[in-house]
Amino acid sequence: MVGGLDLSKGVEGMLMPNPDGSGEWGIIYNDTIHSAGRRNFTLAHELGHYLLHRQTNPNGLKCTNRNMADWDEVRNGIEAEANTFASYLLMPLDDFREQIKGRAIDIDLMTDLADRYAVSLTAAILKWMTITDKRAMIVVGKEGFIDWAWSSEPLLKSGIFYRARQTVTELPAASLAAQDVDWDTGRHGHLQPAGVWLGSEPVHEMTVFSPSNDQMTISLLLYPDRAPSRWEMAELEEEQTVDTFDKFMDGRTG
Ligand SMILES: [Zn+2]
Repeated sequence: MVGGLDLSKGVEGMLMPNPDGSGEWGIIYNDTIHSAGRRNFTLAHELGHYLLHRQTNPNGLKCTNRNMADWDEVRNGIEAEANTFASYLLMPLDDFREQIKGRAIDIDLMTDLADRYAVSLTAAILKWMTITDKRAMIVVGKEGFIDWAWSSEPLLKSGIFYRARQTVTELPAASLAAQDVDWDTGRHGHLQPAGVWLGSEPVHEMTVFSPSNDQMTISLLLYPDRAPSRWEMAELEEEQTVDTFDKFMDGRTG
């Protein structure tokens, strides 16, 4: 069977063997979630589990909201595999590339992609992040804290990423995500000076505020295309130290 059930909060979907031992399987999404995009992605994710993992998981699998954002196959194994399966099923690569050709990378594009493939905005952004050569990060915030974040490969290579979820990190106070800005301001975004987000470069931040979802924010961060060299990094750091020193001295004399 494929269908919806009232699953507990936090559970997005399940792959479930028929309890009568018939060898039949059920693919279930959480009925209490009303976003068509999320349901769609969950169905594709569970279908991935059915095709790839039912033999090694005879008791089935229960998947959380966070599992739907686990894309690191080394760390997250089968959850990442199910996500990759879902993303290729729902967002065929050739078509995806065609859609983004020549377009500015912004929230409008990501929303168009989410609409086209009937997936959530997060799924569309993550798909783009896996194929882009841009230095970019997605940061999902909840109630003022970073719930999870993901860096594109080129950004990862410059060493800019939030470490896994063991530590509690507040959204940067100067970020749009942490401020009470209106929808348009957040969506259109803002060039944040170095030091607001991770790294020592200015970052273009665009943030979407989810009205329904316990103060959830989705931020797309675009870093400069070219990573600073080691030499430039050292100089940047020095500049920042001088700035801080100057400010300190200004504070004392002013
Ligand atoms: Zn799963």
